[in-house]
Amino acid sequence: MIDKTIEGCYGHRVHNQHLVEEFSQMTVCKCKRLHGHQLTLKVFLEADHLKDGMVTDFHHLNWLKKFIDDYIDHKFILDKNDPLYSHFIEDAELTPIFIDGVPGPVGHIVDCSDCSLINQDNRDWLESFFVVNFVPTSEYLSKWIFEIAAIKMASLGRIVRVDWHETPKSRASYLNG
Ligand code: ZN
Repeated sequence: MIDKTIEGCYGHRVHNQHLVEEFSQMTVCKCKRLHGHQLTLKVFLEADHLKDGMVTDFHHLNWLKKFIDDYIDHKFILDKNDPLYSHFIEDAELTPIFIDGVPGPVGHIVDCSDCSLINQDNRDWLESFFVVNFVPTSEYLSKWIFEIAAIKMASLGRIVRVDWHETPKSRASYLNG
C-alpha cells in the first residue's frame, strides 16, 4: 500500500450542525459560522501486483494535487443546499468542473473570466467558492474524494482509504467497503 499526502487551506460552514450540550460542553454551534481549516488529505492505494516495483508512481496522483490546488485551496466549499447560498453568490451562473475520466461534474464554480462587467472585488468574491451538493463535513469530503479517486485511479490501483484531516487533531476517514 502507498499513500500520498496533499495539503491546502479551505473554508466552509456546517449549516446543519447540532450539538448535544452534555457532551460538547458548548452552547454555540461554532461550525455554523464561516471558518477555515488547514487541510491534510491522504489517499491510500493498493494493487494486487507491483508494477516496476511500485503500486503506482506517486506522480500519478498529480491530478488530485492539481485539483485541490485549483479548486479547494484558499476557497470556500459551499453547499448548494445551504440556506444562505443565495447570500453568498446570489444568482451567479455556475460552471461545472470535470475531471478527465470521471463521469459528471465533481462540483461547480462561478467562472468570471468572461464577465467584463464584474469589477475585480466582486470577481475575487465570486471566485472564492467551490460549490458542492452536500454539507461539507470532513466525513462527506473524504467520501467525495474517495469516490472521485476510485474511478480516476481504477486502471492503476485500488483506492482503499481517504483521510481528510481538517486540523492535526480532527480527521475523518472513508474506507473501501
Ligand atoms: Zn469546520
